[in-house]
Amino acid sequence: DAPILIVGAGHAGFQLAVSLRQAGYEGPVGLINDEPHLPYQRPPLSKAYLKGGGSPDSVMFRPEKFYHDQRIELIADRAVAIDRGALQLVCASGASRPYKHLVLATGARNRLLDVPNADLEDVLYLRSLDESEKLRQLFATRRRVVVVGAGFIGLEFAATARAKGLEVDVVELAPRVMARAVTPEISEFFQQRHSEAGIRLHFGVQATSIAGDGGRVSGVALSDGRQLPADLVVVGIGVLPNVELAGEAGLPVASGIIVNEHLLTADPNISAIGDCALFASERFGASLRLESVQNATDQARCVAARLTGHAKNYDGFPWFWSDQGPDKLQIAGLTTGYDQVVVRGDVGQGSFSAFCYKGGCLIGVESVNRASDHVFGRRFLAVNGSIPPEQAADPAFDLKRALA
Ligand code: FAD
Repeated sequence: DAPILIVGAGHAGFQLAVSLRQAGYEGPVGLINDEPHLPYQRPPLSKAYLKGGGSPDSVMFRPEKFYHDQRIELIADRAVAIDRGALQLVCASGASRPYKHLVLATGARNRLLDVPNADLEDVLYLRSLDESEKLRQLFATRRRVVVVGAGFIGLEFAATARAKGLEVDVVELAPRVMARAVTPEISEFFQQRHSEAGIRLHFGVQATSIAGDGGRVSGVALSDGRQLPADLVVVGIGVLPNVELAGEAGLPVASGIIVNEHLLTADPNISAIGDCALFASERFGASLRLESVQNATDQARCVAARLTGHAKNYDGFPWFWSDQGPDKLQIAGLTTGYDQVVVRGDVGQGSFSAFCYKGGCLIGVESVNRASDHVFGRRFLAVNGSIPPEQAADPAFDLKRALA
């Protein structure tokens, strides 16, 4: 009996292996892991792990014994080619592995900064455990960091670096932080909080080159002619989905590996899930590629259900979070395309939500330090619920009533 082979042991791949066993799948399961650690969680890498003195074990999903007990074969290798005709996966070690069904959970990799001197040793990224480990060690010896990119990861890193006493500059081409992901109301709040913490934010500028001195970083040159001194540069300018394995095997890829509403590729023996998958979403009537733990784990559960005889369309409801300094941002739904934003709560007190509407219909809720609004958004939007904007804005209106 050939195994179900899973390429990539991140959030999606790990969850799929676990969900197959939970669904009672008895056949062999292989999880191909090209990282030098047991499968681990990524969110803490820019949060608790970066901040604290936790051991690498603290981010592992499960200890080694779990895989043994669950008969999940952890395969330390890297997939390099798919022989679809022969139902075989070719690995970097030279091994050819047969599969009954192949699931691509290859995730994404850092988009690299493409400017002169970007290959200097102290220009770093934050996606893997080793990268997080290296950065947290550097807090002890570095004094000035320039963060390129004011997205979630750049800002989470910036807040921690500042709390550790470093001078922090953040460089962002857009006119506000997290511009592609959140409403201006949320951006403004976080800009103020980060500025109050002593982080200098530079908008509308790009890093154009890294200045080096004897092989070490000494600064970052900006598109407006300024130069920011630095002994460390951290780049958070987004990711590129790992689609090459699929593309080279002749599977359709675009800004992700193209899968249908069942998360199947054009080959009925191959699925794709998580950060690498561009999926047909019925709920949103669009092709989406999402980068979140919710998306990775819900897609894994959906494929596990299909492979154990319970096929259904993927219908996961998107949600996300980001911890920046003392503040927690939580997002329910996809807030792109809104035409009206209603604020509920008290921005001054640092506890509020932005309710996003499109054509009078609630499409998403972005909450800052307001978990109850987030929970409401997740539960209510998942069943396509909506409340009028006036009710959302009215502090006397009890959201629980709408849920009842
Ligand atoms: P990944 O976790 O990237 O796993 C893919 C795995 O496949 C990797 O181990 C990769 O090395 C491996 N691989 C790739 N190609 C091959 C190959 N050919 N052969 C074998 N293995 C291969 N999301 C949230 O929802 N909330 C957060 O707060 C949050 N914080 C984050 C903080 C950081 C620092 C990062 C990096 C991400 C964060 N995310 C967060 C995003 C979330 O972690 C990702 O969406 C999630 O990890 C996606 O899971 P995945 O399994 O699809 O991909």
